[in-house]
Amino acid sequence: MSIKVAKFGGSSLANASQFRKVEAIIKADPDRRYIIPSAPGKRTAEDHKITDLLYLCQAHVEQGIPFDDVFTIISNRYLEIVKELGLTLDLQPYLNQIKTDIATGASPDYAASRGEFLNGLILADLLGFTFVDPADIIFFDKTGLLDMEKTQSKVSACLNQYPYAVIPGFYGTDSEGQIKTFSRGGSDITGAIVARGVNADIYENWTDVSGFLMADPRIVPNPKPIEKITYRELRELAYMGATVLHEESIFPVRQAGIPINIKNTNAPEHPGTLIVHDADPVTQTGTITGIAGRKDFTVITVEKSLMNAELGFGRKLLSILEANGISFEHMPTGIDTLSVVIADSQLKNKTEKILDEIKQQCKPDAIEISPNMALIATVGRGMAFTPGIAAKIFKALGDDGINVRMIDQGSSEINIIVGVETADFEKAVRAIYNAFTG
Ligand code: ASP
Repeated sequence: MSIKVAKFGGSSLANASQFRKVEAIIKADPDRRYIIPSAPGKRTAEDHKITDLLYLCQAHVEQGIPFDDVFTIISNRYLEIVKELGLTLDLQPYLNQIKTDIATGASPDYAASRGEFLNGLILADLLGFTFVDPADIIFFDKTGLLDMEKTQSKVSACLNQYPYAVIPGFYGTDSEGQIKTFSRGGSDITGAIVARGVNADIYENWTDVSGFLMADPRIVPNPKPIEKITYRELRELAYMGATVLHEESIFPVRQAGIPINIKNTNAPEHPGTLIVHDADPVTQTGTITGIAGRKDFTVITVEKSLMNAELGFGRKLLSILEANGISFEHMPTGIDTLSVVIADSQLKNKTEKILDEIKQQCKPDAIEISPNMALIATVGRGMAFTPGIAAKIFKALGDDGINVRMIDQGSSEINIIVGVETADFEKAVRAIYNAFTG
């Protein structure tokens, strides 16, 4: 019998009818044995996520403002789900306890974690699975990072006792015994930790889209779905702005070689996207897997004759960034020029200060600052060792009159990044997409 770990996102558990879909999915396959629920998400575009409302309750208490109305909205959502599912589970004592805890100064992490906790109780009851509180098996260290070793051994030891269990997502216990959450969207991480702990054959991540698309559908109309992607490709695309899965959720399963299947609760028959080991053989060369990009970068270019012969020039420049708490994204160089590409969110209002320091310490012949750059990554393991891929990208951009301001190809050859004017961003993504799919 194989083991499947299935995580369901907030929209998959937003109301009773979504719970019914989840129940049907789990019951359709007895291998789906460890289930990780998020808190109820939005039912409509205008609706609120339970997690946001719980944070709001805590913030009210912190400001000394009554939070009864907000808490009633939360209670009613859960009570309605229980009632519509026809369960006999009595959530009221739990709700009362949570309300008291928040009223008496519980932390934001504790408040937020209750969204998953309550959904876990409901789902365990609906399925007839054991409820396992992640506070007992997921641990953070003194620095606030996940204590991977302790967590993995506890998760394995605990879950091996139960053939079927529900483990709420998003939280664990810190080094002082208090509830601590992951960053937002962190139930994905819980799912990955559980998958690794029980040595799952697959980690299913159920959401409201049928996996990844080759490009952002807000930019490219009806982009093709991605059937299979490696962890490394996903990391490149996620870093460049493609989101579906929490970035940190990849590491535990990647190390253990467990594939992730992104699936759609509202279309369970769709195969979704399979995220596989980096060594997965390439079946088709000359293809790309996806395109993603981000706007709002600034390029600082420093020019100095004989820079190539000056020892320590790059180090001096980068130390200035480091001393100002700025991380950079890329560093294209020429013989006498060196550029650094920096996200505007990093630069904030430090530009003048940095320029002054560069002038003083690096004594360049010239410094040029060019804002409004967007970066676009074309990613695919099918690109590696295939001649003509870069030419295809540049021809597509050139044919559309788009000027390329920067080029960077990672040494793994699975990623070509181009920098274009922000105003050309969408047009450039479409041009590249069409060149490879048309
Ligand atoms: N409920 C949490 C959030 O909204 C965690 C999650 O859904 O993964 O961020």
